[in-house]
Amino acid sequence: MQKLIKDYSIKNKQSKKIFETASKYQVRGGSHNLRLFPPFPLYAERCKGSKIWDADGNVYIDFWQGHFANVLGHNPSVVLDKLRDFFKKGQGLETGFPEKGQRRLAELLLGRVKADKIRFTTSGTLASMYAVMLAKAYTKKEKVLKVGGGWHGANPYVLKGISTFKNGLNEIESAGLPDSADSMILVTRFNDEQDLEKKFRDYGEQVACFIIEPFIGAGGFIFSSKDYLQKARELTQQYSAVLIFDEVVSGFRFHAGPVQNLYKIKPDLTVFGKTIGGGMPVSAVAGNNDLLSLCNPDTKKEDRVKFEGGTFSGHPASMLAGATYIQHLIEHEEEIYPRIGRWGAEVRKNIEEIFSSYGFNVKCTGGGDGIAPNSSLIGVQFLRKNLEKVISPEQVWDPEISDVELREKAFKLAMLEEGVHTFHGFGAVSAAHKEPEIQASLDGVERIAKKWKDLGVQELL
Ligand code: PLP
Repeated sequence: MQKLIKDYSIKNKQSKKIFETASKYQVRGGSHNLRLFPPFPLYAERCKGSKIWDADGNVYIDFWQGHFANVLGHNPSVVLDKLRDFFKKGQGLETGFPEKGQRRLAELLLGRVKADKIRFTTSGTLASMYAVMLAKAYTKKEKVLKVGGGWHGANPYVLKGISTFKNGLNEIESAGLPDSADSMILVTRFNDEQDLEKKFRDYGEQVACFIIEPFIGAGGFIFSSKDYLQKARELTQQYSAVLIFDEVVSGFRFHAGPVQNLYKIKPDLTVFGKTIGGGMPVSAVAGNNDLLSLCNPDTKKEDRVKFEGGTFSGHPASMLAGATYIQHLIEHEEEIYPRIGRWGAEVRKNIEEIFSSYGFNVKCTGGGDGIAPNSSLIGVQFLRKNLEKVISPEQVWDPEISDVELREKAFKLAMLEEGVHTFHGFGAVSAAHKEPEIQASLDGVERIAKKWKDLGVQELL
């Protein structure tokens, strides 16, 4: 680790300098902790397609791809050209009116998700928060049920059971929450039907909503089983709770629509983010009239949900970028998704095989398991215990089972040394990645596995 840090510091002198200066003004030199990895982050100068050029002139193949949002790679021309034209006409920054680009994006999204209405906001965090508020107002119930490992942004209604492992994932994850947060938020185990049944048996009358990522992102890149989601649908109906699918990661990642369509399970509310903005800050909540109308000013005051502000919600440039992107994904669905899905499967298979041939116990997550054959996401789990397959966030975050530190620190720096920028072990293949880049990245993995074998790293696991 020390050698990796030393070599990284030598290769990235400018980034280090920027980090030190930025840290005088900004907390840890930036505004999103995940990006500010130790010992100091890369400062990107330019990004295009599959590549990043950093402040030191280093070039990296990037699989982080804008928090996995960039299905088309960085700065796709299809969006840039539209924005350029818009700006050339002196348009794009006028906020304060219900401009018509919103209608276009709304229409495109509602063509892909079974819902009556949609409302936009600017981050996945805000959209997931508004979805929970709608559910609580609609049911007039108190508790919010989520899964351990589920990340819905820093939404105060669900900041529990994310990544802190203490005999499970059930801890409050932030200071500064209302005193009632711990008792309000219930956590159940992802993909565990029995635990879900028990939670509903014990608390069902008080549960306003069950919020879940059908494909869990930060929790380990794992798909829900179809039976589990079906059970969630049945139990929420039985106990009159709202079922919320957070599709901030999964929406438009596996096909040109939400992953719920592949499961053929309809939630009451869907949260979108990331990809739907085409690189701009756009998120949304979609659902049926009875729920969405709670933010209509015509709704009587005592039932109304204040999902209504947002200086930048429905921002014209963002709406244009989002609509252009989504239209492109829909029109090119058959070219894009099978191709990136095939590469996703190749990378997952190769990484497991490479590490196994050097004596490491590594499993890749992100595979579609018969639900989403075109999964382009790749998580890499360094295992301390033998598992056939990684099926839960608990297996990812339990330090006795997986070594997340090795993945996020040593493997990340080692891959950067190989000229590859990864996240959660690897990340997302985009439509901009070419075969030689994928091969070069796998060659890098092989060199690391060989070096680590020679150093005896597997003995530390
Ligand atoms: N929901 C999920 C599933 C996410 O992965 C994230 C962010 O990564 C969010 C919500 C929050 O989105 P944002 O970072 O745009 O606030």
